[in-house]
Amino acid sequence: MLSSVGIMFGMIIDFHTHIAPPWLRDKRGEYIERDSCFHLLYSQPKAKLVTAEELVASMDEAGIDKSVILNLGWVDHQLCVETNEYILESISRYPDRLIGFCSIQPKAGEAAVVELERCIANGIRGIGEMRSDVQGFDLADAEVMRSIVEVAVKHNLVFLTHASEPVGHQYSGKGDITPQILYPFIVNFPDLKLVCAHWGGGLPFYALMPEVAAALTNVFVDTAATPFLYRPQIFKEVGDIIGADKILFGSDYPLLSQRRVVNEISSAVLDEGDKAKILGDNARRLLSLP
Ligand SMILES: [Zn+2]
Repeated sequence: MLSSVGIMFGMIIDFHTHIAPPWLRDKRGEYIERDSCFHLLYSQPKAKLVTAEELVASMDEAGIDKSVILNLGWVDHQLCVETNEYILESISRYPDRLIGFCSIQPKAGEAAVVELERCIANGIRGIGEMRSDVQGFDLADAEVMRSIVEVAVKHNLVFLTHASEPVGHQYSGKGDITPQILYPFIVNFPDLKLVCAHWGGGLPFYALMPEVAAALTNVFVDTAATPFLYRPQIFKEVGDIIGADKILFGSDYPLLSQRRVVNEISSAVLDEGDKAKILGDNARRLLSLP
């Protein structure tokens, strides 16, 4: 569907949304007890869970053409598998609207690789939103990460991780995947297409250092939850440092409405071409969409 924003900027792709299966929403309390990542993100009753249908309805309303649907960093491998199943089901129901990312628990070893390959065979395009801090693995540990990254690179997947600043206000779910944690992972696996969510927790600012800029060749940031985190100036400042080619519009829906983040981008101090890149062109290229 074409919204006025779509007419101005072409295809709009939201790189950061979350959906949940109806069975999870129905037994929310039980899963809050069972998994510490789910507990961290959803123990507050006001944290909304939406189904694929609800997401697509909200996309129609906001004029979003496609959304990347992310899973969560479940601690329990089996819960990764069960919720991935809903992501797979949803992309098969809405193949033109939804792009699926799966969740894995790298600590599960071979089982995590098997699950990743199952998801790839069923059309998954990436991994995320990963939460190494809560899931209890070390992104910097090349031994743990190598088998996962090899499969990801081989199949041209995108790896999306949560990220946050080591400074500033606390919020529930902030965690500590800071630039200091992200950087060794980036250096260990330069060929991996990596998206650091929420502006990479400030990582782009370090790209004023030439060696960091060089290391970020395959690294992108998304704008998920921007109005909660940064002044609107962030779009121009980060665009100036790492280039607007590296910024992906993401809303973090249903935490925030897509409209709210789209409006910030539309009214940012950026040229129209850069806005179009952020709102969809960069995502289209990264995901090799037609
Ligand atoms: Zn996040």
